[in-house]
Amino acid sequence: MKIAITKQLYEKVRAGYLWVFYDEIKAENLGDGQIVDLYYKDMFVAKAYYNSKSKISYRILSFENQKIDLNFWIKKLELLYKQKSLFYQNNFRWVYSEGDFLPGLIVDLYTSNQVKIAVCMFLTLGIEDQKQNIVEALKKLGVGCIINRSDSNLRTLEGLDLVRKIEYGKIELPFSITIDGITFLIDPLKGQKTGYYFDQTENRKFLKYICKGGVVLDVFSYIGSFSLYCLKYGARFTEMIDESSYVQNVVPQIMKLNNFQDKYILHIDNAFKKLREMNDLGKSFSVVIVDPPSFTKTKDKIQNALKAYFDVYYNALKLVSNEGYFVVSSCSQKVTQEQILQVIRNCFFRANVRGKMIYCGKQAPDHPINPSMPETEYLKFFVFQIYKDE
Ligand code: SAH
Repeated sequence: MKIAITKQLYEKVRAGYLWVFYDEIKAENLGDGQIVDLYYKDMFVAKAYYNSKSKISYRILSFENQKIDLNFWIKKLELLYKQKSLFYQNNFRWVYSEGDFLPGLIVDLYTSNQVKIAVCMFLTLGIEDQKQNIVEALKKLGVGCIINRSDSNLRTLEGLDLVRKIEYGKIELPFSITIDGITFLIDPLKGQKTGYYFDQTENRKFLKYICKGGVVLDVFSYIGSFSLYCLKYGARFTEMIDESSYVQNVVPQIMKLNNFQDKYILHIDNAFKKLREMNDLGKSFSVVIVDPPSFTKTKDKIQNALKAYFDVYYNALKLVSNEGYFVVSSCSQKVTQEQILQVIRNCFFRANVRGKMIYCGKQAPDHPINPSMPETEYLKFFVFQIYKDE
């Protein structure tokens, strides 16, 4: 089926924008999930999949005029594997949706005891319809277990139900993986998202320069990835705060596996409350890391999100010792880098401190940013050295 697009849309799409909204194009009588060819005049532009239930009517899957079949998926997955292997081995984000020009699909690869485990998020109807091809392609590429973690709210907007299950193969959960010499236990069914946050990999490595001999506070720690990197790089001790009961069970096992069982305390608590308590006790740390969940997914809630950021950043900042380091992250795509920096300036003023930014990071290279789609850029990460008047 051929769908005509305007010159304006053609130019946008050719530069890499992968979405066509319902009001940008004439309505057609198509089946949901159907694959169509977008044309500008007589020229083929792209293959896209359709969903009448979504505000994004078409998502582009290919700029080549090729069949979207098993072979397409094998070729795409093979190519991405090769590209990502330049940066990482065994454990990485294999497919990052629009950032890898495959809208609606996320695949994280884990390797445990030489078994390749793919954790997939099939986020849209068009991708759900391709699930069998994707699963077959992953199997052909040597994946021994496929876990379906498709419980994102995005699926509701697509008219899909939420799914969390083992799609193919068998695996005991949690399974262990090794990244940068650290052993982690991963449970993609019980954990956050696919089980591990690969997007902070490069930022975690920066901690090497600032944590040696220090005492760390890791706020919103999840399974403690930042803490584990700090301990590996020579930190003396870490305190972690997270409210989830999953973390409560798995963190002690992970610390033991890495021989750090005497070097941490885990506070299962609300971070907003716990930070206030720590301030009341007059505690102080040489490195304070704050990596909160996304406080907003929509534009209309930005002001509330900024208030929440101020609250945790401010109360965390006050716990940094003089000449210590304040490590701040935000993964809200809707909140800009400038908005986060403004919150930080407000925190500096209120806490009567100054800070030098010594590092500024983004998402790791296995989460590539498509410059034509600002929607693909979300992670902000800063390290400040803090100066307090004595
Ligand atoms: N820093 C982690 C990722 C953090 S994800 C890493 O590098 O892997 C955000 C975490 O914040 C989740 O584990 C979630 O359980 C926790 N969380 C969310 N709201 C919280 C709150 N109000 N208090 C404490 N923890 C919270």
